Amino acid sequence: MFTNEEYKDIENKILNGERLSREDGIRLFHCKDIAWLGAMADYVRKKKCGDIVYYNVNCHVNLTNICTSRCKFCAFGRDEDMPGAYAMTVEQAKDVVRDAMKDPNLAGLHVVSGLHPTWSFDDYLKILQDIHDEFPNLYLKGFTGVEITHFSKISGLSIKEVLEKLMGAGLQAIAGGGAEILSDRIRNELCPNKATADQWLEVARTAHLMGLKTNASMLYGHIETLEERVDHLLKLRDLQDETGGFQTFICFPFLPKNTELGKTIKQTSMWDDLRTMAISRLMLDNFQNIKAYWVMLTVPVAQVALGFGANDIDGTIHKETILHDAGATSPTALREDTIIDIIREAGRIPAACDCNFNILRKF
Ligand code: SF4
Repeated sequence: MFTNEEYKDIENKILNGERLSREDGIRLFHCKDIAWLGAMADYVRKKKCGDIVYYNVNCHVNLTNICTSRCKFCAFGRDEDMPGAYAMTVEQAKDVVRDAMKDPNLAGLHVVSGLHPTWSFDDYLKILQDIHDEFPNLYLKGFTGVEITHFSKISGLSIKEVLEKLMGAGLQAIAGGGAEILSDRIRNELCPNKATADQWLEVARTAHLMGLKTNASMLYGHIETLEERVDHLLKLRDLQDETGGFQTFICFPFLPKNTELGKTIKQTSMWDDLRTMAISRLMLDNFQNIKAYWVMLTVPVAQVALGFGANDIDGTIHKETILHDAGATSPTALREDTIIDIIREAGRIPAACDCNFNILRKF
């Protein structure tokens, strides 16, 4: 184990299993000793999760990229009349799933989409229900806190009523996107047309109280301060203390290509990505799983991130589009045997799981 004299007090807290404070988190973001940070995060990961790394044989379905929100960091959302705008029919969505079902190990669908200006909540619901009717054994994870807030707004239903209907149509877990940075200052600047920080948290809280698990995320590397990153993590930690309903936390580095914000902001460095991953593991002491999302990090950085606190590497995906619109250089899908090799090379044990982290196969 590395030691660091300057951060000895924090190191002692970590080794004693004590909770880190806001000030500790901010200091860690100024730490230049990346090897020590990684060793600390890896120590906590090993103690908490052992050597298993989760992955999911899954398929992403993005029903539409037409979106009323038009967030400044997003390269996926479009106006209806822009080139490349699309909205799937039920049959087109099912065709994507039918194609993905050629893989006999496919275990889950991940469904996230734009906030379409004319679709009703029933339109989204029907697609979900039809997919569930045709593929009843497929785990359905989908819709972010942003989408669910939108459904509530356009339907006049409460968040709880929206979730009840989604669960009735087969939904088994909620996606973690849309959290961005949970700060009104940042949301007013970058994405004023969608769920506020409090609304995003309220969706997660309501879902957890209904027994529906959700994921959490942080989009970093844009206009946020390091203090705001820490405050974001603390908001998630506080809610997890309250409900215990978050399954995994995902660090999303901002990808600038083809975004409005990207005209002035550069992509994060690998150093920042690994540091943020490690600090997330250390601050989120009540989260079991921390995900290294290979699509955004790239496969090599995601593999290294397994030594910086991560124990989850997402999935095969089938065909990723949202982040490739923003210039992601990773592949749009990975084969299952490639994911297994990536995990094994890192000295860990690959385990295929469903969207609720139930292990289906272990290697
Ligand atoms: S991030 Fe989501 S809500 Fe924002 S523009 Fe993109 S698709 Fe729409």
